Amino acid sequence: MNDFPARVVVDLGAVRQNVRSLAAHAPTAQVMTVVKADAYGHGLVPCALAALEGGATWLGTAQVSEALHLRRAGVTGARVLTWLYAPGAPLREAVEADVDVSVAAPWALDELVAAARAAGRPARVHLKVDTGLSRNGLVPAQLDGVLAAALAAQAEGVLEVVGVWSHLAYADDPGHPSVRAQAAVFTDAVAAVERAGARLEVRHLANSAATLTAPDLHWDLVRPGIAAYGISPVPQVGGPERFGLVPAMTFEARLATVKPVPAGAGVSYGHEYTTPADTVLGVVPVGYADGVPRHASGRSGALGGPLQVGGRRLGVAGRVCMDQVVVDLGAGAREVAGDRVVLWGPGTDGGPTAQDWADVAGTIAYELVTRVGARVPREYV
Ligand code: PLP
Repeated sequence: MNDFPARVVVDLGAVRQNVRSLAAHAPTAQVMTVVKADAYGHGLVPCALAALEGGATWLGTAQVSEALHLRRAGVTGARVLTWLYAPGAPLREAVEADVDVSVAAPWALDELVAAARAAGRPARVHLKVDTGLSRNGLVPAQLDGVLAAALAAQAEGVLEVVGVWSHLAYADDPGHPSVRAQAAVFTDAVAAVERAGARLEVRHLANSAATLTAPDLHWDLVRPGIAAYGISPVPQVGGPERFGLVPAMTFEARLATVKPVPAGAGVSYGHEYTTPADTVLGVVPVGYADGVPRHASGRSGALGGPLQVGGRRLGVAGRVCMDQVVVDLGAGAREVAGDRVVLWGPGTDGGPTAQDWADVAGTIAYELVTRVGARVPREYV
């Protein structure tokens, strides 16, 4: 390790392998790897390229700027879909950059038609249907009108309606009745669009959880995000190894300070942790500004916690601060300043995973990996 106090190392071979595993779970569908939010904190362009090498043929982004970033970085060998934007978004640039655009509201169709006319080339459209998530998407009452307008624009050569899609509320709870209810609404919406004369290229519904647990929902294209980065979308069903996945991100730091303190020393803000005996404390130079969840603050300094120091698993002693956390290394600790601390990684050697931190902090692993702070350098292997 070099002289960084902390760093993230992203294993692009793991991303490639994870995408291969996902493709094997969905042999009749194409794979769109979702690379929004800087590829879930793993690095947009490197992960996009790794995903394509692993067999993805599509990339998915939320914001238009993310899709444009991919194209400007030279990622041209794949279809890219963008789906979340507000009025005034750079849709003309998206059309010019050969990006597929989702339409989830009547105004969005109007802006996309105008953008395609200005670009002088047809826009490829995926109609997003709200089948029960009640988030972004056309509710059934809006679908007919938007579809009619889209097909009229298609007849003029301004648009091509190539996709119908939706997103599930309970995919991470396989067997939940809501999944079947949404699937039925989706089937009806697809049928309605096809009856109206659209010749659809892709119909898509499945995120990571549905890709891995609901083969009947794969349709023509699956849209995994979190699983491409090696994190199980259904931890209650099984960890990544169960699905042939390997966590791609390792977040590690080096001890900044190691020092003896007596029994009864209050540790960190508010002294939520007090040393139970004479001991040795270590300072890890990462805090909530770097993505360590403050909810992982510990009153107990728990053994078996989510930090790995010298082959041991330890908890956070006291409150997580902005730049640092303290760990109780125990009397007789042999660690010295500069020694490696793993926050999370592949977990294959008994080390901690982002899921372990999620469990301690009462959140989901998605939040951990997407929130590693900007000042933590990323390295790719
Ligand atoms: N599709 C859409 C519309 C999404 O918003 C997301 C992420 O939230 C995904 C697919 C990928 O989901 P996951 O990371 O659970 O696979």
